[in-house]
Amino acid sequence: MRETIQRAAKDLTNAKTAVALTGAGISVESGIPPFRGKGGVWEKIDPMEYATIDAFMRDPAKVWNVLIKEMKEIIDRAEPNEGHKGLARLAEMGILTTVITQNVDGLHQAAGNEDVIEFHGNFAWHRCMDCDASIETPSIDLSRIPPRCGCGGIYRPEVIFFGEMIPPEALTRSQQLSAQCDVMLVVGTSATVQPAAYMPVIAKRSGAKVIEINPEASPLTATVSDYLVKGPAGKAMSGIIAELERLRVS
Ligand code: NAD
Ligand code: ZN
Repeated sequence: MRETIQRAAKDLTNAKTAVALTGAGISVESGIPPFRGKGGVWEKIDPMEYATIDAFMRDPAKVWNVLIKEMKEIIDRAEPNEGHKGLARLAEMGILTTVITQNVDGLHQAAGNEDVIEFHGNFAWHRCMDCDASIETPSIDLSRIPPRCGCGGIYRPEVIFFGEMIPPEALTRSQQLSAQCDVMLVVGTSATVQPAAYMPVIAKRSGAKVIEINPEASPLTATVSDYLVKGPAGKAMSGIIAELERLRVS
């Protein structure tokens, strides 16, 4: 990992604009399980039964009981780790402009990144399916499932379920940034959920270097990525930041 960390730091020093695409893996060290892979949520439950908009509309209480309640408890407790903090530091150094994230946990903003595109929404808010009123997730009363708004409508998280559209402005901006950046860091994503997984392809075709950070290879590795920093996001990002700081003073 040492050699690829050095290579990534060098590429980032030479970059005019870097952007990051992150996935569930960057939050694993904050105690949030990913969907796929070892310890992933999908080992326990079937996504088609719980994470599609049809499943939610059919039986909101079931999806609340099995998926949303647990997500709420885990996300309420989670704090940014060295991976999120490293990306915030890269922005502070003027290297990274934007984080495009598939995560809904709000940890990039908590770490200090100001420009975060949330491809799949944000779990910090829920809205009433009848009157559209918004409520902050920690204030939701869970004594009744599914929880309801004063008007009687059911609350749903402000996240994109499978089968729902990506917010068009998030998609358009991500495509533009991917085409304009000269380095894209792809951190902790299995690169299997579209259209997010296509952003590194756009970056590569537009001439950018694509650097992956992940303990495992993904479909992008060896096809789209220039190289893989093989390891957990926290360790890799803190190594890259230390190396960048060393390059800056020398
Ligand atoms: P994924 O669950 O499909 O894949 C997780 C990836 O993270 C894998 O490639 C795995 O090898 C890697 N990984 C595991 N531990 C890691 C670590 N310590 N450091 C770096 N990488 C690590 O995740 P995905 O590609 O983001 O797609 C899943 C979808 O699930 C996303 O669209 C997202 O909306 C949603 N999701 C979000 C959260 C969250 O907000 N934290 C959590 C679970 C799922
Ligand atoms: Zn309402």
